[in-house]
Amino acid sequence: MKVQKIEEEINQTKNHLSFLENSLKEIQENCEHQFKGDQNFERCLKCNKVEILYY
Ligand SMILES: [Zn+2]
Repeated sequence: MKVQKIEEEINQTKNHLSFLENSLKEIQENCEHQFKGDQNFERCLKCNKVEILYY
């Protein structure tokens, strides 16, 4: 594999990753969360968002 090709793939992967992260963030921001969990943390059943609970 040539260096240039590797760099190209790294950049494409970064772009793809940031696209995925934004998609996830958007889903989680618009989710009507339905949390389920224990005393330490709970996770939304719909979007997998995790809330840490401190007491
Ligand atoms: Zn949710």
